[in-house]
Amino acid sequence: MTAIHPRNLLLAEFARVSPDAYERFLVDVDQVSLKRGAVLGLANTATEFVYFVESGVVSLVASTRSGQSLEVAVVSREGVAGVADALGQHPFPYGWVVQLPGTALRVPRRVVHDHILSCSDLHGLLMAYSQLVMHQLAQSAVCNRFHTSVQRLARWLLLTAEHAESQRLELTHEYLAQMVGAPRSAVTAAASALRKDGAIDYSRGVVTICSELRLRRAACECFDGLSSSRLDRERRSSVALIVR
Ligand SMILES: [Zn+2]
Repeated sequence: MTAIHPRNLLLAEFARVSPDAYERFLVDVDQVSLKRGAVLGLANTATEFVYFVESGVVSLVASTRSGQSLEVAVVSREGVAGVADALGQHPFPYGWVVQLPGTALRVPRRVVHDHILSCSDLHGLLMAYSQLVMHQLAQSAVCNRFHTSVQRLARWLLLTAEHAESQRLELTHEYLAQMVGAPRSAVTAAASALRKDGAIDYSRGVVTICSELRLRRAACECFDGLSSSRLDRERRSSVALIVR
């Protein structure tokens, strides 16, 4: 069974520190496909399931009443989508959308909630992870207020490539504009500037990172703070503090 050696890093840590509790947790786990554009959870609506991502990328998306949307946090196999509803009493005001396809281990929210109450190791892991999501939410506000479209697009592409573990991303300009939170014309101009600099290339809905170095030079400082390699180090030290 796939979940005995989970690809999801949170579950791998849970299995390591608390194998008996993890084995009980597995009873209610299902592996599911994450299809591009699938909505895993709606804003202000308690999710039915929590998704421990194994591959692919899921975005936490904030939307306005007029239909504009913006990615405010991202989850890949280091994390879990929908867990805020299992930890808290009120539904999260953001939706979850699959950005790049993959697979996840799906668990009913109620089951996760019950295991959180009975297993301090799982509770500690998810609380530490929630802190990282809060970091992303806060940094997203700073980035959108102070950094240019080119900087934000470069930062977004670097982070998405890191989460996807691929330098080749299937994304349209329209989708990029939504995720980066800029008008489509601004994202097209930003992408053109990055291509002219030799950082990226794109054709028919596929963006390829040609030079990570050049893209890093173009990106804002937010990339360094949000890079999963750094977050993973912080997560591991948080986990070490909680688990001893
Ligand atoms: Zn920024």
